[in-house]
Amino acid sequence: IMIGAPDMAFPRLNNISFWLLVPAFLLLGAASIAFWSGFRAEGRTTHELAVRTDAERESVDRLEECRRAVLALMAPGGMHMVFQPITAIDTGQVHGYEALARFPVHGPDFWFPEAGRVGLLKELELHAISLGLAGLARTRPDQYISVNLSAQTLLDPALLDLIGFDAGPRVIIELTEHTPVEVYSEVVAALTVLRFRGVRLAIDDFGTGYGSLNHVVLLSADLVKIDRSLVSGIADDPILTSLVAAIVAFTRAMGISLLAEGVETSSEATCLRDLGVGLAQGWLFGRPDALHATPRHASSGELSTRPVDPAPGTA
Ligand code: C2E
Ligand code: CA
Ligand code: CA
Repeated sequence: IMIGAPDMAFPRLNNISFWLLVPAFLLLGAASIAFWSGFRAEGRTTHELAVRTDAERESVDRLEECRRAVLALMAPGGMHMVFQPITAIDTGQVHGYEALARFPVHGPDFWFPEAGRVGLLKELELHAISLGLAGLARTRPDQYISVNLSAQTLLDPALLDLIGFDAGPRVIIELTEHTPVEVYSEVVAALTVLRFRGVRLAIDDFGTGYGSLNHVVLLSADLVKIDRSLVSGIADDPILTSLVAAIVAFTRAMGISLLAEGVETSSEATCLRDLGVGLAQGWLFGRPDALHATPRHASSGELSTRPVDPAPGTA
């Protein structure tokens, strides 16, 4: 525009190079004044804007890279599940298994938040659930598989398709207490449909999140999983002991089953059993591992479960 303008405005002047230089100087002047005087747009200098644009481009590239990495986890060989026994503390019987995701690099604490960042949380969770539920074929018919999910995935109708009609009574879904539930009525409605198929709900990481009693009461939990932070060292900690005693009283009054997570020592297991906690999960009873063939679980002797000291007066 600037180059054509001088000829039209001053047709009698043929010194084109002079008229070319004028707008060039004007432009250059305006640019340098803007740059050196710290011309501001939305409070940022043009220099800052250029840097920001590069940073934005880089973060878009990085997001795309992350998105591809998460998608690759859902391809064959990308992700597999391990299963950790859920055991009755007093009898040592394995009632079921929690399915936990494993990846070629990093752990679930890295990949699930990462999938959330790139909008693929539901997809990754559903994939994990489908792999987890495949474990039902390798467990006894009276045992369940417990799977982890967010409220967002709980609301997805694809979950119903994955569980189907027959598997329901052998499935527990774990909703972490950290999951913010914005609209309880939506989750309650989704749970009603799942419960109709026999699916049960566990509240995970109990005692650590802001959901606290809300999730348990408003969602009518079937099982509460006490977080490891309230379990580790409980045998020598009177505060933890009274806290868990209060949780036992509360869940009993509500008719909710109780499980202690991260049980590592037999003194913890003994203390929990004496307090009235029915179920335990942790390295003492078995690390997360591949499920072995059904015959290994067929007897009531069960797995690698180590004995817990007998209750006072029972031996
Ligand atoms: P979580 O659901 O609370 O799972 C229990 C975690 O404690 C697991 O870590 C398990 O390996 C670990 N653990 C079990 N027993 C013991 C013990 O005695 N001592 C100690 N120190 N740790 C024990 P993992 O597998 O690394 O999982 C971490 C978290 O990642 C899980 O916490 C869960 O929130 C999430 N996660 C794992 N798999 C999945 C999945 O398939 N889907 C979703 N949505 N989240 C998953
Ligand atoms: Ca869990
Ligand atoms: Ca947990």
